[in-house]
Amino acid sequence: MKGQRFLLAFAALMVALPLLPSPEYWITLANYIGLYTLVALGLVLLTGIGGMTSFGQAAFVGLGAYATAWLGARYGLSPWLGLLAGWCITAVAAYGIGSITMRLSGHYLPLGTIAWGLSLFYLFGNVDFLGKYDGMTGIAPIGIAGLRLDTGRKMYWLIWLAVATAMIGLHNLLYSRPGRAMRALKGGAGMAEAMGVDTAAVRIQVFVIAALLASTSGWLYAHLQRAVNPTPFGLNAGIEYLFMAVVGGVGSVWGALLGAGLLTLMKDYLQSLLPRLLGGSGNYEVIVFGILIVFLLQRARDGLWPLVMRLAHRRGGRLPVAQSPGLAPGAAATPQDGLSHREKPLHGTRLLAVEGARKQFGGLVAVNDISFDLRAGEIVGLIGPNGAGKSTMFNLMTGVLPASGGSIHFGSDAGAQRIDRLPARAIVRLGIARTFQHVRLLPQMTVLENTALGGHLRRRHGAQPGRLASLAGAVLRLNGAEEAALLQAAHVQLQRVGLGELLYAPAGSLALGQQRLLEVARALCCDPVLLLLDEPAAGLRYQEKQALAALLQRLRGDGMSILIVEHDMDFVMQLADRLVVMEFGSKIAEGLPAQIQANPAVLEAYLGGIDE
Ligand code: ADP
Ligand code: MG
Repeated sequence: MKGQRFLLAFAALMVALPLLPSPEYWITLANYIGLYTLVALGLVLLTGIGGMTSFGQAAFVGLGAYATAWLGARYGLSPWLGLLAGWCITAVAAYGIGSITMRLSGHYLPLGTIAWGLSLFYLFGNVDFLGKYDGMTGIAPIGIAGLRLDTGRKMYWLIWLAVATAMIGLHNLLYSRPGRAMRALKGGAGMAEAMGVDTAAVRIQVFVIAALLASTSGWLYAHLQRAVNPTPFGLNAGIEYLFMAVVGGVGSVWGALLGAGLLTLMKDYLQSLLPRLLGGSGNYEVIVFGILIVFLLQRARDGLWPLVMRLAHRRGGRLPVAQSPGLAPGAAATPQDGLSHREKPLHGTRLLAVEGARKQFGGLVAVNDISFDLRAGEIVGLIGPNGAGKSTMFNLMTGVLPASGGSIHFGSDAGAQRIDRLPARAIVRLGIARTFQHVRLLPQMTVLENTALGGHLRRRHGAQPGRLASLAGAVLRLNGAEEAALLQAAHVQLQRVGLGELLYAPAGSLALGQQRLLEVARALCCDPVLLLLDEPAAGLRYQEKQALAALLQRLRGDGMSILIVEHDMDFVMQLADRLVVMEFGSKIAEGLPAQIQANPAVLEAYLGGIDE
């Protein structure tokens, strides 16, 4: 409570700052902190959420600044049109640059950002109509409803309004369907693809949004300074922006504010202190920043914001719990979640046909010309010793790995479609959902949100908004109905697998057995007709296994088809209608559980002692 009152008083003071007899110098510093925060917010999204490092954000600040400066000087356009034009130019440039550089991996991406950061800088400095290295002056002030924002004191509110809007919008975005896909980029891209997320497209979205934030900062800067030149948009500035985001903490929108504030104040202080200490002039503060970064990377990799939160926590404040909005408290578990549902195919029709599927890793034949069928409403067990090729078979069926030969068709008889050449996200769209043998969750995200990621492709009846509309709806929080439906659907599946009490726990805090159940719930949230489960019962306790078996039987009763890899023989024998047995990549048997249990080749394979 005390902390909240303090924060409120602080916020009120900040709003009133320009009205108080505050020194001009404070206002200037505060304005710069605001401008830098906007850029750092983009980096929180790009680096902290998307896992991509950019040294080139300053160039986008420059695009925003130069666009409005040039249109104002040349055509006398209003600053507001300059803002729109800056956004358009930045979006097009970022889309183009992003389409090329976002494909780069490892160290090539940061190097790529340095390259375009430098090229835009030299472009500003060498183009005649942009004033070359002298830049442009005499930029008009922004006017709002007859009010001319011609002093720093008046610009203060507009700058901080932009910062507040960006922070709220970004927060809204991150806790939404498209935002969850963005949060999966770092450390969960392969899994997200299996849930239907087009990660390459999401990466570019993130890149464009970060660039737009930088461009907005540039627009404000141009009308605050009333002049532009290339210097503040060079590589040095790009590095400083990255410093700010990393120092503050790229994991949180507050980290951007903290980092921008801290570095701006420190830089200002050091710039007056160091030359006096060391004599002569020079950018000595850069050395201190360098040392600070090294120290931080050693001691606090996630930046300072998490440390601040821990301190506040120790002082008795509560950590804010990131709860997704939209879930009505105590929402009942009904399947009437308002989302589209797939019709289950007619019981007994052929749903999956694997013909001569083959996968070679160099000389190793992991899957050796395997053929089998699966019919609608059937549970088929795929068993075999460790290393037999079961998971590889799953990866061929789900588009994670390309097959070296053979074909896989999916769909009831007449409408069967070849799937072994489709990417993972196209296969889940057809109604095949999977779990992973090595659990792939987003440990920081709540159980509920992890599950909701499975519903990424599902829409409310009739609703087909495009990507842009989806993003805008999330930022403006117009997506309430969609979010509620999606979280409701996730909630229903979590209750089904027995995790209904753990909705807001971070997935990483769950026991391994519960994490496997969470994977099952996420797969169910895809609304599949075929469920591929890779060792779902490993690590589960006896009761949990019984509950899982009961759930799978109920699902089969509802018309679900299931292919399951499982090591627990009692579990799989009681559950499966039919079994396919693999050893060293080849199929050695197929039949009813009783036949398999009596099959000499199978007994040999299992008693051979390769497996557990
Ligand atoms: P299972 O799931 O039946 O235990 P896997 O499908 O995981 O078996 O592995 C089958 C064989 O293929 C193993 O020998 C494994 O080492 C090999 N293998 C699996 N994935 C790869 C890969 N990406 N690259 C090379 N070898 C692989
Ligand atoms: Mg396996």
